[in-house]
Amino acid sequence: MNILLLGSGGREDALAWRLRQSPSCDKLLAAPGNPGIARWAECADIDPCDPGAVISLAATNDIDLVVIGPEAPLVAGVGNSLRDAGFAVFGPNADAAQLEGSKGFTKDLCRANAIPTADYLRTESSAEARAAVDRFGIPVVIKADGLAAGKGVTVAMTRQEAEAAIDAAGDGPLVIEEFLEGEEASLFALVQGETAVPLASAQDHKRVGQGDTGPNTGGMGAYAPAPILTAELQERAMEEIVRPTARAMAATGTPFSGVLYAGLMLTAAGPKLIEYNVRFGDPECEAIMPLIDGDFAELLLGVATGKLADMQPKLTGKHALTVVVAARGYPGSPLSGGLIRDIEAAEQVEGVTVFHAGTTLGERGLVAKGGRVLAVTAVADTFGNARARAYRAVDQIDFADGFHRTDIGWRELARDNA
Ligand code: AMP
Repeated sequence: MNILLLGSGGREDALAWRLRQSPSCDKLLAAPGNPGIARWAECADIDPCDPGAVISLAATNDIDLVVIGPEAPLVAGVGNSLRDAGFAVFGPNADAAQLEGSKGFTKDLCRANAIPTADYLRTESSAEARAAVDRFGIPVVIKADGLAAGKGVTVAMTRQEAEAAIDAAGDGPLVIEEFLEGEEASLFALVQGETAVPLASAQDHKRVGQGDTGPNTGGMGAYAPAPILTAELQERAMEEIVRPTARAMAATGTPFSGVLYAGLMLTAAGPKLIEYNVRFGDPECEAIMPLIDGDFAELLLGVATGKLADMQPKLTGKHALTVVVAARGYPGSPLSGGLIRDIEAAEQVEGVTVFHAGTTLGERGLVAKGGRVLAVTAVADTFGNARARAYRAVDQIDFADGFHRTDIGWRELARDNA
């Protein structure tokens, strides 16, 4: 089949790499792509959020499957336009993408379907928000309602922080949430209508600094699977959270199709939903793709064409770890244009692939463009070996304007050592 992949980040580089290895993939086209993706796919420089441009590209290239990587085209309804034009699409329509686009929508769906999640109040009144803070107590979580890419969330450890977050919202829509205690893990499930099948688990590191300190980022590293999400806990999360969500979406006439990424808090009372994303995580995707067994393109086509119930995604049983190399200044004002060398040397380390998240080809060679620049991924039989290989590879890369965390996977490492 001929496949069109939308997006231009590290997630899409990993998707392209995995799709390229699928026996059923003939032609692979990416829009707009990046220099890493160009290793596996032909890149077309169009705006992935422009439905007209995407449809015309798909039509001229005889595309059998469109895989939508990032959230922006999903929320913008590019999936709807493509389906209306008769294309098979991996990724939900805009109304189902609300599971990510609106925190309030997801919270209300959880309440209506008894899906375990933090107790909450949706409000546009700062007085009501303050009353909710009194009710839930400190710590408390305050979220702007809308597609905030993680930035609109304040975990307030003091009353003052909570007040400041409420003031900052003015009278904009807010979700005030009870604070959940536990460790976080991500569960990735393939969903098509009422059918939901687990694909993989992962854990990531959102803070920019060592020891999970400093400002939030898109993610500084990840590993898969997440051993803390045991088979038993994963099945519980599927049964209590993901499957009821799939059924509820189908019942309201907005069936979900694609990958549903459940951000879970593993509390003493079991897994609870923190949030949904309607696409693969970045950098979790980079850690998951090397673990997928079998024909990945066929699996995604199966989801897109309503055959998920007959499919059984399989993993290799190995472990993968991804270290993000970012441009200095990230997440504030990342330095652009820094020269990157010796990626080939890094890829000489066994099991390593260097995915491109924010690079471009300049006159001097490959240079940084954007905050997160590379996602260095290693796969091995054990978590510890994957981690060691990933860091050995990172050390090979010559990128003076870059930095990375040296403690990716610290929780797992501590458990391994215990
Ligand atoms: P979200 O964008 O909803 O995923 O929130 C971003 C981060 O805030 C999550 O990854 C958690 O670390 C934290 N968080 C969100 N909601 C809660 C909650 N109810 N209790 C504790 N931590 C939370």
